[in-house]
Amino acid sequence: MKCPVCKIDSLGSITLVENLPANQCSSCKGVWIDSNAYIAWWKAKGEDVPMKQTESKVDPAWDVKELKLCPNSGHILARYKVLPDTEFYLDRCSHCNGIWFDKNEWDALVERNLHDNINEFFTRPWQDHLHTEETKAHMDKLYLEKFGGEDYEHIKQIREWLKDHPKQGMLLAFLQAKDPYKI
Ligand SMILES: [Zn+2]
Ligand SMILES: [Zn+2]
Repeated sequence: MKCPVCKIDSLGSITLVENLPANQCSSCKGVWIDSNAYIAWWKAKGEDVPMKQTESKVDPAWDVKELKLCPNSGHILARYKVLPDTEFYLDRCSHCNGIWFDKNEWDALVERNLHDNINEFFTRPWQDHLHTEETKAHMDKLYLEKFGGEDYEHIKQIREWLKDHPKQGMLLAFLQAKDPYKI
């Protein structure tokens, strides 16, 4: 099997974790996981297989710097963003659904306990979640710039205090009134 990165016949069989066979490149240490092997590993864990990939498919990010080809089928691998505000992408074959992990990417997912959520990365809810998180981080940065650290912390505390306060309406009116002691 050809490594999608090194483009030589360098993929050898390994056991990535118990019950999960994979192929690893002896040169770049990237890992290829077959879709059926991944699903079988899921089932062996005795849990339900999560979301079907066929539902709510998302368009991959095609900003590829270099084409990677599926070691199984030779198709071009599509790139999907996995985590917000990082350059963490996974490459996936949309024909056989196999997934390519560059060196350390599998370990990075294990670290975040996301290695058993991989099929979700390619679904609409996950991609929407990514978008929400990135927007949030962007707004947070803008507020910090506008307010300055100290005021921003202060107003966030006030917001938190008011959030579920039973007298929220009255308290807000008090805050916004020019002179709350005048009728
Ligand atoms: Zn390689
Ligand atoms: Zn393929």
